[in-house]
Amino acid sequence: MKNNIFCLLLTSFIFLSCKQESKEGINSETTNTSEVVVQSKVKGCGYTSLIEIEKNFLPAEDRVNQIVENIVSYSGLPNNFKVYRADYINNAFATIIDNERVIVYDSKLFNDVEWYSDTFWTSVSILAHEIGHHLSGHTEDNLGSVPLKELEADKFSGYVLYKMGATKEQALKAMKLIGSVNDTQTHPSQTKRLQAIEEGWDNSNNQRYKSALPPAPNYLTSDFYVFKKEMVINNDLLELNPSWFEDNGDLYGVITETDNDFRGFSVRIINSSEQFKKYFRNIEDEDWGLSIESPHFGSNTEMCHACASNLKYLLQPGRRIKFKMVESLPDHGTSLNGVWFLTYLEVLPANYFDKLPK
Ligand SMILES: [Zn+2]
Repeated sequence: MKNNIFCLLLTSFIFLSCKQESKEGINSETTNTSEVVVQSKVKGCGYTSLIEIEKNFLPAEDRVNQIVENIVSYSGLPNNFKVYRADYINNAFATIIDNERVIVYDSKLFNDVEWYSDTFWTSVSILAHEIGHHLSGHTEDNLGSVPLKELEADKFSGYVLYKMGATKEQALKAMKLIGSVNDTQTHPSQTKRLQAIEEGWDNSNNQRYKSALPPAPNYLTSDFYVFKKEMVINNDLLELNPSWFEDNGDLYGVITETDNDFRGFSVRIINSSEQFKKYFRNIEDEDWGLSIESPHFGSNTEMCHACASNLKYLLQPGRRIKFKMVESLPDHGTSLNGVWFLTYLEVLPANYFDKLPK
């Protein structure tokens, strides 16, 4: 019920059209410490509609400055935004004034959405949307909102809210409250915008299980991304017991955890060869612990010094790998039963499993 009343309130918005391409300069000057006078019109990418106004701005509340600072920190970029308050716009917008990136918001709108949604994430998601406009370069042409830009800013909002700890529902809440049901000339419908926020949130979530490959130090990527048994098993063991280390078949997975001393790691098994299933059993979708037999990369392995440090660098959560393993080691009786040793490792591109057939 709360939501319905609020939607009614918002339908009384005055949509400020902004199709003219006036590129009037914006002269802002400070008349006193608490008020900025904007003498000519300012046009911007509004959250719910295109904005063109000619009024005064007030300094932003500390709380809102802090939220902006927090959002921007998750982008890794400097916070070079000026934030102002304008409590008559029933909106928030991003624009450039005097070559500075500006965000203007209505504190009444923020109070309302927070009250109706019972969460401060609604205001955060609106501010994130406006920051998304700036970071995507949408404000540079000074033309304001177009549908494609809006979806890009929505996607960023969902993306960064995940990083900040919001649930998907919290990331979507503001749009559910105040998004326009139908497409307008400048803004896509609520349904499309909710999809964009969701897509951003999902992408961010998926990144937890991805990590980019560093560029190989030379053009022979196999030297640095492929680790054969001669490199990860002590060579005396290999020579004395060659049959023990025969190929059991390929496995594919994502590293989920790595020991600090690189003696082992955990991997979520995504796919496996028929050969391995016959040799052992199907372990797809299981979390599996692996040990590395030669963790110190001593003289008795075939691993070059650079390869060894690269292996450490590559063993990190999120990495996609193809690998082989063998249970126990020769001459250990049953003491190492259930302990699996890595005999082959190949590092795969971050998007590898996205391409695998289901
Ligand atoms: Zn927008």
